[in-house]
Amino acid sequence: MKNDAVNILGAGLCGSLLSVMLARRGHEITLWERQADPRTTRTRAGRSINLALAARGIRALQHAGVYDAVEPMLVPMRGRMLHHPDGSTEMQAYGAHDHEQIYSVSRAELNRLLLNRAEDEHGVKIYFNRTAESFDTQSQALVIRDERNGQSGELPDGPLIAADGAGSVVRRAYTADSVIAPREELLGHGYKELNLSAGADGSFQIASDALHIWPRGGFMLIALPNPAGDFTLTLFLPNEGAVSFASLDSPAAIETFFRREFADILPLLPNFQSEFAANPVGILGTVRCQHWHDRKLLLIGDAAHAIVPFHGQGMNLAFEDCVLLAAALERTSDWSGAFSAFEQQQWANGNAIADMALDNYVEMRDRVRDPKFVLYKKLAFEFERRMPGRFIARYSMVMFHPEIPYAVAQQRGVLQQALLQRISNGATAIEEIDLDAAEELIRSELRPVSDVIDS
Ligand code: FAD
Repeated sequence: MKNDAVNILGAGLCGSLLSVMLARRGHEITLWERQADPRTTRTRAGRSINLALAARGIRALQHAGVYDAVEPMLVPMRGRMLHHPDGSTEMQAYGAHDHEQIYSVSRAELNRLLLNRAEDEHGVKIYFNRTAESFDTQSQALVIRDERNGQSGELPDGPLIAADGAGSVVRRAYTADSVIAPREELLGHGYKELNLSAGADGSFQIASDALHIWPRGGFMLIALPNPAGDFTLTLFLPNEGAVSFASLDSPAAIETFFRREFADILPLLPNFQSEFAANPVGILGTVRCQHWHDRKLLLIGDAAHAIVPFHGQGMNLAFEDCVLLAAALERTSDWSGAFSAFEQQQWANGNAIADMALDNYVEMRDRVRDPKFVLYKKLAFEFERRMPGRFIARYSMVMFHPEIPYAVAQQRGVLQQALLQRISNGATAIEEIDLDAAEELIRSELRPVSDVIDS
């Protein structure tokens, strides 16, 4: 099994990291990618320009031996900076502890680094401009078209890992043959990216140590810093309706909307009209699939479980997949067994973070403005400091605790939220709450995390 040749479809973030991990285990890896080589061509990947990297992703990059090279590319973000309609701002720390932060990273830079590592240090063969056009679910034959000459050919038999993203050709083939019936749910909200350039001296024009949010109830604008001093802004908005991408159908409508909703940032966006016209509206959705593997075939990353981006976890989850798959391969002597073990371990977690990501959209665009939310957050951090290992805010479990599976974070999040509601019933400030009595209640109702996870 160690020397088996493995084909990985898709050289995005998941496929390229997985190729490094498996090549380090001694497998002969070939990567097939429909896009041109991003190291020599500047094509837009069609997805977000930068991403939030958190502990699960970092752990995976460490496993692959690439984190030291990634670290200098990161911009730390220690909290959310809320921009209220009246122009005031408010920083909400992400974690109970100062070291708990997330990191903005460029998708293209990270992808290029992983491809370089795969090819230069681990001998991974990478074929670009190769599009998977069909997959036979019976024979498990994948047909690849060479975009340079239009010729198609079948890949040789062997383990195949489909990391070809949310629109996976392989998943669609299984769906067409009624082997699986995935739930593919579009959100009804889309996104558009804009740029807030660096100042004249290359400095950041707004605080660089935060993920900025303009929460506006049914929609929001966010901004993540880039190492060059600029920010990538993303406007999330319903596709249809009174306030929607459809209603922003003229420069005047766009101008009125931005002046009304984002007046504080507008002076820093001299090109917002031309960028708005030029940049596409991206679609967002969730894919839930009953099965991720069939004999020597595995779906991984977004191909198996695309999620909406509001918890900043799609890439982190895909990277965690790579860690768990590599561990399953260590324990199991055949591909099908390892794929099955991986699916069993991660399937419920994929569903859990899909739910939490949807929930986090409401939190980011709406709940963050609610004084009750702020009180819950304060209480959660207080209890986390008093009872480390027992009470950990749900957001922190997801972002800073890779040892806690997503499904456990989701279940404990529900229990903890109920406790917070009981404890703060009627209170408007933390000073009104008997924290010692609350601690006693939590100790009696919430088991330590170590009791419910495998160490
Ligand atoms: P992809 O990145 O989609 O890669 C799939 C690859 O397969 C691509 O290179 C594609 O060209 C190739 N491919 C597809 N079809 C074929 C074919 N037929 N033949 C050959 N090759 C093919 N995640 C986070 O963790 N943090 C964030 O902050 C975050 N922000 C996001 C913001 C937005 C707006 C969006 C849309 C997503 C965000 N995500 C975030 C999610 C993250 O982008 C994905 O989860 C991640 O890219 C998944 O990696 P992947 O390799 O599985 O899929």
